[in-house]
Formats: sequence, C-alpha cells, structure tokens
Amino acid sequence: MKCHLLHVCCAPDLVIAYLSGARGDVFFYNPNIHPKAEYEKRYNEVLKLANMWNLNVIDVPYDPENFFKLTKGFENEPEKGKRCEICIRMRLEITAKFAKENGYRSFSTTLTSSPRKSVEMINKIGLEVMKNFGVEFLPNVYRKSPLYNDAQRLIKQLGIYRQNYCGCVYSMSSKQPQLITMR
Ligand code: SF4
Repeated sequence: MKCHLLHVCCAPDLVIAYLSGARGDVFFYNPNIHPKAEYEKRYNEVLKLANMWNLNVIDVPYDPENFFKLTKGFENEPEKGKRCEICIRMRLEITAKFAKENGYRSFSTTLTSSPRKSVEMINKIGLEVMKNFGVEFLPNVYRKSPLYNDAQRLIKQLGIYRQNYCGCVYSMSSKQPQLITMR
C-alpha cells in the first residue's frame, strides 16, 4: 500500500507544511486557479520544491470547467463563504478519489497553511470526504506551526513566488499587497 497523498495548493503553503512535517506524494489539483498562466506559474513553483525535497509528483490535469460548473450561482459569495466550501470540497474529493483508487493509506492538504482560509471548514470537509470515500483524512492546522516564521524566511530565501490572491477569477478583485507577516 502507498503511504500518503498530499494535496498541495501552492508552493508557499507547501513550504510551511513540509517544515511542519508533511510528507507524501504531491497532488496538485487546483482547477480553481485562474488564468491558466497563473496555474502554471504556481505549479512550476511546486515542482521546484518537490524536486529539491525529492517528493513524487502526480501528473493531474487542469480542468477549470469543473470549478466553474460547481460554483455556478455562487460567483458573488465572499471569501470563506459557500463558493469556497464548494471549491475546497471539490479539491479534497478528487484527492480522496485518487488516493482510494491508487491504494494510498491517507490524504491531507496544505490548505490549512493559509491565514486567509477557515481551518475549521477545511478540516470538517476533509473528514466528511473521508467518510464518503473510505480513505483516511489527516486534519492539520499548519498555520499554527511553531516553524511558521522559519517557513516565511525560507520562502523568501528560495525566492518562491507568492501569489496575492487566493486563486479563482472571483478572488482576483480582492488582491492583497505581497507582505510577509511575521507572527
Ligand atoms: S476564493 Fe479561493 S477557496 Fe474560495 S473559491 Fe476562490 S479559489 Fe476557491
């Protein structure tokens, strides 16, 4: 049996999770990211880290149609609202499905590294998905990691691209300045 499938949302969040002990095969399923050039930029940054840390990377197709279909009618929801719930569930369901079909023991996500997401929502969805797909979900709260500030320094040292919006086209209007907050 394979060990662990790690859903990775972006390179900065992978650094935080990795320094906090996350390991596994990298599963970059994020069809919410818009436009495609931004998706490729974030994916290439993840590949650099995976190469440096010798992590296997699963080749996952980019299917933005799935995101747009599932979030239709929720375009104007605020961040952390219903659209985000659908988006996170979509990503974790596809991760769990792949894990189940390919013999992984468990799965988790780097999404909880972000201070801008609801950790409660992510872990609740993960546990629901676990029940529906029959593969163990390992909840985490990476943004509370004692190595969070070390991770921020490493991201800077490595010159990792840090996006200034969550990912979907609807979040582009809420772009944040690229500040690194030391907690
Ligand atoms: S704001 Fe982020 S989590 Fe919410 S729908 Fe957009 S990409 Fe997904």
